[in-house]
Formats: sequence, structure tokens, C-alpha cells
Amino acid sequence: MKLDLDILPLKEWFPKNNKPLLIAGPCSAESEEQMLATAKGIATFFPNSIFRAGLWKPRTRPNTFEGIGDVGLEWMKLVKQQTGLLTATEVATADHVEKCLKAGIDILWIGARTTVNPFSVQEIADALKGVDIPLFVKNPIYPDLQLWAGALERINNAGIKKIAAIHRGFNSYDNGPFRNSPKWELAIDLKAACPDLPMICDPSHIGGTPDLIPYIAQKAMDLEMDGLMIETHINPGVALSDAKQQVRPAELKVIIDDLKIRSASIESRELQTKLDELRSIIGKLDKDLLELLAKRMAVSTEIGEYKRDNNITILQVFHWSKLIESSIETANQLGLRENFIKGVYQLIHDESIFRQTDVMNKPQPKSLSEGEGL
Ligand code: PEP
Ligand code: MN
Repeated sequence: MKLDLDILPLKEWFPKNNKPLLIAGPCSAESEEQMLATAKGIATFFPNSIFRAGLWKPRTRPNTFEGIGDVGLEWMKLVKQQTGLLTATEVATADHVEKCLKAGIDILWIGARTTVNPFSVQEIADALKGVDIPLFVKNPIYPDLQLWAGALERINNAGIKKIAAIHRGFNSYDNGPFRNSPKWELAIDLKAACPDLPMICDPSHIGGTPDLIPYIAQKAMDLEMDGLMIETHINPGVALSDAKQQVRPAELKVIIDDLKIRSASIESRELQTKLDELRSIIGKLDKDLLELLAKRMAVSTEIGEYKRDNNITILQVFHWSKLIESSIETANQLGLRENFIKGVYQLIHDESIFRQTDVMNKPQPKSLSEGEGL
């Protein structure tokens, strides 16, 4: 995918910030006291960070807290006056944009539920024409890279050059231990399509629990992301939204202090040589793996022919379950993670069924052999 955006490098718009750029604050603005206490806690440890709070909350289900609304703009002004922190909030309509601009909010972001809707994104873009304000675009709730890229383009086409993407994870059929599956590959693909685009990770909405935040934040840093958005509340236990995932300012301090910021470039020649050696071993092993897979699939085709000639169905569930069980046992003995092996076998099985279907029911639609397995 190609994505041409005309953007300003992050350090030109946030000159005071070192890596990672930190955006911290409550999921929702709840009261003047909550906002000021949280902001002061954050400012003590991170005076150059950006204070976030949602004023209008797009909630998946009604009858939950849908945000404090316009009055929160006044609290944002107080936060800025009393702590010096820059302020950021989510906008979903032109009306939100106008109110934020009037109130002097420094940064706006588009939430995951809005990025999915090109009409809403365009409405926001139109309201921003001729305005110079940074805007962050969260990934859409479901894993569609084109929608994410399209929202960034719409905003950029409106003349906004201070743009960043926020990776907050995706809602999938199986989110594993995460509230929203990270699917890091989408953030990596977006960055590959537009290397200048700053990328901020939101470990709070990916993890859904404070326990996972350090791991996700570290991974984001190791993938060369530029910043972190972490939901921070003076008293998470009583938060009106996302209570389970917010951390206190002092906990945020520990998370950020523990991060290892590694370098993307390799300076020593010795290190480079060692890495090259290991990479060449991997290159050979990968080739062996491919050759073995080709041999295995040739046998699958042969089995397909045998089943066709003898009128036997492709899938025999019992046989498949036994095969998986014994492979997992071997994988355990070899120190391979069970979920990893299950995933690999799922793909092998899909391909095997594809091959056998091909043999049994020719001709298959051409688009299938170019597309996914089954
Ligand atoms: C939020 O930042 O509180 C929020 C609603 O996030 P998202 O749009 O990622 O769900
Ligand atoms: Mn939230």
C-alpha cells in the first residue's frame, strides 16, 4: 500500500518532547477536582507530556457514561493554566471541533469508532480547513488498514500537517488476552506505507488492564513507535469509564521509567557481524522449512487423489484432533509455545484442505487459488 501524506516531522511540533512522546490523562473528564488532581500528578513527573481527557464519549452500548460534555472544556482550560500541560481531547463531529478550537484545546484526536465512518471523518476534516492544530487518528475498531489510511488522507487533504496515527488495537473474533487485539502488523504496514508518519501506541485500550501496559508499551518502543497514550486517573477505582485499565500518576511514572529505549541503528561492526551470522543461519533454516512444507503439501495432494478415487470425505475430525494433540506434545518437548504451534497447524491444515478440495472438485474458482486458503 502507498500513502502519500504531506506531514511535518514530530520534533518540529513537539520540540520539548523526548522519546516517547507521552499523552496521559483520564479516559473521561468527570469533575474539576478529578481533572486537576490527575493533571497535577502527571505534571509532577512529566511536565512535557500532553494531558488527555474525553469529553464526549462514543460508547458502544447506551446507558453508560457518555461524557460530561461542554463543561469539561472549562476544566481543560484550568488544567492548562495550572499545570502548563498541553491538552488533548477526542472529536467526533464538526460541532466538537468548533467548541475545542474556541476553548483553546491544543490537540484533537479522532476515536476508533469515528475512524470507521468516512462521512464523520470528512465532516471533521471540513471543520478543520484553514486551522493549524495537531490531529491524531486512532485506528478503526476493526482491522481495515485502508480505512485508517483514508482517514489520515482526509485530514491531510484539509491542510493539517501535524498528523500522527494512534495504534489502539482491533476488535477481532479472538482478542486473546487483550481487550483489543494489537495486530501489530497493521501498524507496521501503515508505517511502511508512510515512514514519516509518527505512530503512537495506546497500551491502555489494547491491554484493557494495567498488568499488560508495560509489556505493550515496551513492544511499541521496540517497534520504533514515537509515543504512548496511557489512561491515567487519580483514583481509577471510581472512574466512570474504563475503570479497569487506568493507572495512577505514580504507577505511570514506574511504567515509563522501566521502559528500555533501544536504538534502531547498529553502531559497532562486531555487533553487525554477529547479527549477520545469525541472520544467515535463519535464512538457511527458512529455506529448509519451505522445502519441507512443499514436500508435506505434495503428500496432501496425493492423499486427496486417494480419497477422491475411493469416495472418502476430505475431513476426518477425529484424525485431525489426534494429529494436533501429538504435535502439541512434541512442540512442548521442543520448548515451542502451544499457541504458536496451534496457529502454524491451523494454516497447514487450511492449506491441506485447500489442496485436497482442488484435487477432488476441479475446477475451483480462480480467485480462490489466488486468495486465502479455504
Ligand atoms: C478513549 O481514548 O477513551 C477511547 C474511547 O478510545 P478508542 O477510540 O480507542 O476506543
Ligand atoms: Mn478509554
